[in-house]
Amino acid sequence: MSVENVIIIGSGPAGFTAGLYTSRAQLNPLLITGNEIGGQVALTNEIENYPGFPDGVTGGELVERFQKQAERFGTRIEYDYVSEVDFSEHPFTIRTQFGSEYKTKSVIISTGATPRKLQIPGEEELTGRGVSYCGTCDGFFFRGKEVVVIGGGDSAIEEGIFLTRFATKVTVIHRRDELRASKILQKRAFENEKMAFIWDTIPLSINAGENGAVNSVTLKNVKTDEVSDFPTDGVFIFIGHAPNGQIFDGQLDMVDGYVVTDKYMHTSIPGVFAAGEIQDNRFRQVASSVGQGTQAAMEAEKFLLELEDRTYEDVAAELSGA
Ligand SMILES: Cc1cc2nc3c(=O)[nH]c(=O)nc-3n(C[C@H](O)[C@H](O)[C@H](O)COP(=O)(O)OP(=O)(O)OC[C@H]3O[C@@H](n4cnc5c(N)ncnc54)[C@H](O)[C@@H]3O)c2cc1C
Repeated sequence: MSVENVIIIGSGPAGFTAGLYTSRAQLNPLLITGNEIGGQVALTNEIENYPGFPDGVTGGELVERFQKQAERFGTRIEYDYVSEVDFSEHPFTIRTQFGSEYKTKSVIISTGATPRKLQIPGEEELTGRGVSYCGTCDGFFFRGKEVVVIGGGDSAIEEGIFLTRFATKVTVIHRRDELRASKILQKRAFENEKMAFIWDTIPLSINAGENGAVNSVTLKNVKTDEVSDFPTDGVFIFIGHAPNGQIFDGQLDMVDGYVVTDKYMHTSIPGVFAAGEIQDNRFRQVASSVGQGTQAAMEAEKFLLELEDRTYEDVAAELSGA
């Protein structure tokens, strides 16, 4: 079996950027996409804060551009999902859902995060029947209908505003009495006459009508404990994200599901690097993920150069300060 120089796991902004840099460095990288090509960007309607696009850019277009630029310099793309990794021996082993096994000298982990669930009755059963985690993907199905948005951060408000293009009314349900979203988004939301707000309230269950699709949410006011049913055609949930790190459990140092890195994107295993939201729950932006993908790729390049005339054990010992 041939040994890869570098395998990149994940096709979000961090992964494609790592592909761009490592392919331009002539490392012939292999990028394994995972189930969502483009990661969270593919779920986003419009991005206004990524430099170089003064008029904003749709998530779909940005993903296309990231992929094209990475492929232009030779990044090989595999449409597969990594199911198992073994970092205990070098070269490392990576196994995928479709049965491939790879050996590789270095790895860049960029598996990002996925939306958190409310974990209330009705949520799982009604996903795809009125419950959604992506306004861009599903907003169109709610033309002329009324929907609720659960959450109060940037994603919730941004997606809520987007949903007003389709829905006649978008009601934001938030457990506190003020939003966490940036001031500019708050201003736009408060000025949008299709948007309404229910404060200090949490959803207890999502309920179906006779047709098997969502027709109401049961709400509880956390200050008064009052419980009520609120009629709605759709429930959009934006309450944060969980890191996609389960396959690395026991292989690397992790905290709360996030891969731990130093400021150079090195994980606890020399030769394994991580970038983007899998190691960053603070900045969580396209621009910061792109920056971290760049750093991880440049460090992987340096690591591979060291390996050219030294053993893995020697390079690893030096990196761990032994
Ligand atoms: C609704 C919404 C709106 C947003 N709006 C903005 C915005 O306006 N501006 C902004 O800067 N940021 C925005 N963000 C945040 C931004 O999208 C993320 O910060 C960024 O995508 C993180 O990039 P990433 O590469 O770390 O991971 P992700 O984008 O999460 O990508 C992770 C990738 O890893 C893959 N993967 C996961 N597990 C595996 C596995 N086992 N094997 C192989 N592949 C795997 C996934 O399929 C995916 O391709 C938004 C996010 C959301 C959800």
